[in-house]
Amino acid sequence: MRVERAINASVSVRDLSLNFGAVQVLQALNLDIAEGEFVVLLGPSGCGKSTLLNCIAGLLDITDGRIFIKGRNVTWEEPKDRGIGMVFQSYALYPQMSVEKNLSFGLRVARLPKDEIAQRIARAAEILQIEQLLQRKPAALSGGQRQRVAIGRALVRDVDVFLFDEPLSNLDAKLRSELRVEIKLLHRRLQNTMIYVTHDQIEAMTLADRIAVMRGGVIQQFDAPQAIYNRPVNRFVAGFLGSPA
Ligand code: ADP
Ligand code: MG
Repeated sequence: MRVERAINASVSVRDLSLNFGAVQVLQALNLDIAEGEFVVLLGPSGCGKSTLLNCIAGLLDITDGRIFIKGRNVTWEEPKDRGIGMVFQSYALYPQMSVEKNLSFGLRVARLPKDEIAQRIARAAEILQIEQLLQRKPAALSGGQRQRVAIGRALVRDVDVFLFDEPLSNLDAKLRSELRVEIKLLHRRLQNTMIYVTHDQIEAMTLADRIAVMRGGVIQQFDAPQAIYNRPVNRFVAGFLGSPA
């Protein structure tokens, strides 16, 4: 019998291929992420990181392969049914709504009871330290505050897996390092699975339990940061992340 996924895997990607027209952007890619693991997808611009994340999120129709989340084959499931929350580089907040309404929007659509919604928002606001901002509109927030609200929208949905696509790349260096620490603390506190896309080596080294180094739609190496740094499998990985030869 063919083994469909690793035991206890939170997210499993099996033989995933994705073509845009004649261009094969992802090539028979395999990836097993453990429950509670923080995995960084790292690689140069255009290597397919966002495409892989969007396939896991269900935002793209894949060409071939299968995707499992918590052991369930979600390959043909709607994004909203997959138990994932996504945080993008651009915050994608509703400009006309207050922070509170931005946070509650998905919960109201899902018809959660009012007091449950209020509880979830209070918890997320406390974790992300945005209690004082709930009545503001996005335009009245700083970039870092907006990104906190964007994380909060995933947080209130109580998802199994968080997907981040370069969430800090629009922020200045100081804010970037602050929010990096906060995302790390958030992961410690929630202990859920996080998949985090970046082209920034420092982000990858500081955040990841394991890093998947990508090039041309292929994972070159998938291992702990120190292992990759000390034992890169090829010149590309060494040049991108490894210790100087
Ligand atoms: P990354 O996130 O690593 O920078 P992407 O996943 O965005 O890379 O893109 C991978 C490749 O797929 C790039 O060559 C990009 O030009 C191409 N690509 C991405 N989206 C589309 C699309 N909608 N149509 C055609 N090509 C695309
Ligand atoms: Mg990208």
